[in-house]
Amino acid sequence: MTHETLKLRPATLVACLCAALIMLGCAPAPGGGQGEAQGNGAPITENTKVYQWKMVTTWPKNLPGLGTAPERLADRLRVMSNGRLDIKVYGAGELVPALEVFDAVSQGTAQMGHGAAYYWRGKNPATAMFATVPFGMNAQEMNGWLHYGGGMALWRELYGQFNLVPFAAGNSGVQMAGWFNKEINSIEDLQGLRMRIPGIGGEVFARAGGVPVILPGGEIFTALQTGAIDATEWVGPYNDLAFSLHKAAKYYYYPGWHEPGPTLEAMVNKEAWEALPPDLQAMIEVATQAINEDMLSEFTARNNAALDTLINEHGVQLRRLPDDVIAALRDASKEVVAEIADADPLAKKIYESYMAYLKDVRRYHGISEQAYLNVRE
Ligand code: CA
Repeated sequence: MTHETLKLRPATLVACLCAALIMLGCAPAPGGGQGEAQGNGAPITENTKVYQWKMVTTWPKNLPGLGTAPERLADRLRVMSNGRLDIKVYGAGELVPALEVFDAVSQGTAQMGHGAAYYWRGKNPATAMFATVPFGMNAQEMNGWLHYGGGMALWRELYGQFNLVPFAAGNSGVQMAGWFNKEINSIEDLQGLRMRIPGIGGEVFARAGGVPVILPGGEIFTALQTGAIDATEWVGPYNDLAFSLHKAAKYYYYPGWHEPGPTLEAMVNKEAWEALPPDLQAMIEVATQAINEDMLSEFTARNNAALDTLINEHGVQLRRLPDDVIAALRDASKEVVAEIADADPLAKKIYESYMAYLKDVRRYHGISEQAYLNVRE
């Protein structure tokens, strides 16, 4: 081997390698539009491939709290991944209607979605247990059940049937019972009342004599203002003020018996998930956990000031639901929630896991969180 060939051979090899990689860089990336070549001609490797995803949401674009969470999630993932996971967020109706998010991600129209599992009760009644259950767990307890009590494994099993991988990605804390165009003094006042209330809460409301209506957030204000509905629940002061619901109804009731700490969800199309390298998968796990905590912190920080504004600047009448109304709703809830277990064996397993955890956590929270809040005054 001559000195000359020793000099030339590595150069030739490098040239060939570069050509091959440039060709790869020009070729469409695998994954059916989920990935894209780098534009600068640099070689694409697992560490440089860019995944351009769409995230559809059930929320109006940039609605405080609920709508800003998916935007923050996408922003953080873009930074954490150095741009390799580039997710464009669509508000409700921009790519698909709010209540078609589940199907859109299941079918791969979008790789990711953000919503609330109780919107998908038509797929399986047990989906609602991963959002919230009337008189059930609060935010802290839901996080315990999902991440350390077996809940997440069951959620993944259920959503796996629909080609989806779910994540907890937000929590509003205890919500408000809602906005009413008249005072509620007894259970009689609920009879025939048309109220926007989704999830299991809606079914309970029906058992108590009301007429539940399901509407996405963006349609609530007009429906209440025009009298198409008599009442609505939405979230709490921070979000309700943003929707100007005080301009459509005067009486604002608590406590949010129907949504004591709803978990919001992120979901990823299963094939899109499996096509990601492990580090990007880990980033999604971590970023969703962060946004799950972040949303609860934001609502906790902002609800007080928003409630003050509603009462002091807009003359909103704050009311507590009467005890007999609460008791009737609680009784109806037990029936409705128990019926979830009848849907199929997996729904039964989910119901039993949730109820067993609730029983356990109540025992300890009775002498810790609850006992403490009772003595703090
Ligand atoms: Ca709500």
